[in-house]
Amino acid sequence: MSEIQHSSRAHARLNASSSHRWMMCPPSVKLSEQFADKPSTYAEEGTFLHELCELKLHRYLGDMAPDLIEQQYAEHRDNDFYSDEAESVTDEYVAFCIETIEAVRSSCPDPLIMVEHRLDYSEYVPDGFGTGDLVIVADGVLEVIDFKGGRGVRVEAHRNSQLMLYGLGALLEFDPLYDIHTVRMTIVQPRLSNTSTYEMTADDLVRWAETDVRPKALLAYEGKGEFCAGEWCRFCKARYTCRKRSEYHMSLAERDFRHPDLLSDEEIADILPVAESLNSWVQDLLAYATQEAVDGKSWPGYKLVAGRTVRKYTSEAEVIKAATEAGYTDIYKTSLLGVGDLEKRLGRKKFNEVLGKFIIKPAGAPTLVPETDPRKPYSDAASDFNQ
Ligand code: SF4
Repeated sequence: MSEIQHSSRAHARLNASSSHRWMMCPPSVKLSEQFADKPSTYAEEGTFLHELCELKLHRYLGDMAPDLIEQQYAEHRDNDFYSDEAESVTDEYVAFCIETIEAVRSSCPDPLIMVEHRLDYSEYVPDGFGTGDLVIVADGVLEVIDFKGGRGVRVEAHRNSQLMLYGLGALLEFDPLYDIHTVRMTIVQPRLSNTSTYEMTADDLVRWAETDVRPKALLAYEGKGEFCAGEWCRFCKARYTCRKRSEYHMSLAERDFRHPDLLSDEEIADILPVAESLNSWVQDLLAYATQEAVDGKSWPGYKLVAGRTVRKYTSEAEVIKAATEAGYTDIYKTSLLGVGDLEKRLGRKKFNEVLGKFIIKPAGAPTLVPETDPRKPYSDAASDFNQ
């Protein structure tokens, strides 16, 4: 077993994690290639958490030399991303994996269990491959379990094309030997308390690959097909200056509003579904134009100015000294760490044990979202809180 280092993982041109986008907008792959990859802190933290998960699973499975695990573990403890909370979220994922493995072992004495397994789906997607965090094969059932470290967007397993491509890769590899009839795919996203499973028959998965994936992947690979804008633009590298995305949003302004003074309810209902997307497009455009201006570009009618700032001390030590010498001693405040920071300090498990009974989560301010949003309606959430 070599050193665990996910940052060196190879990435396919048509990778599974962006499959929703290239299936909806095939030419986005070619268009994006002119933009450099910008590593983000979120991605780096995600890589780190995946490495911790992998080490813990190897430790449980006993398929890696213990001294090598401990040596790599010590290196990870020195990493800036290491914290009690990182331990806690990776523990949660690993606990789910262990539970699943034990359940499988109780009915099948010798399942195949693979950590960080390369999955090749190139039969349907040119040069397509990815890496399954945990793959289990037993008694005709294939399981793929995927860890998500994000705390922003909740990721559901239902018809998730990334997981379905991983499942497809595993099916192509193991079906000839194990006669797989069911593919089960799970996302574990501890920071949002989200564990989501989707299951389909092997036949349905192959049918999807043939009718949906293959034609779109071929278009994407060849840079052909129709541009199509939607929520999938969010992670597209071309999103700042893509003409299709701009046209999609600008078309709003061309709507034929018949009542010039006030919008009707119907017109507002028409605008709502695109409002969020419109807002995110405008924010992207502003960020892009600002960065270009910082780099020296001038936009007609615009100039760069310094943003608002707040006053701050040049040196806290000097301020304390000067204030004390002047006779002012009441210059400190102490306050309790916030819930998130304290949870980080204690680790999620200990935090829940010691402080769980003192934590409440008030109903948030009413927020208008599409009906498809998985959250409870506001009236139910508010009455839960009042009970
Ligand atoms: S920004 Fe959207 S429409 Fe444009 S290429 Fe990317 S995915 Fe397609």
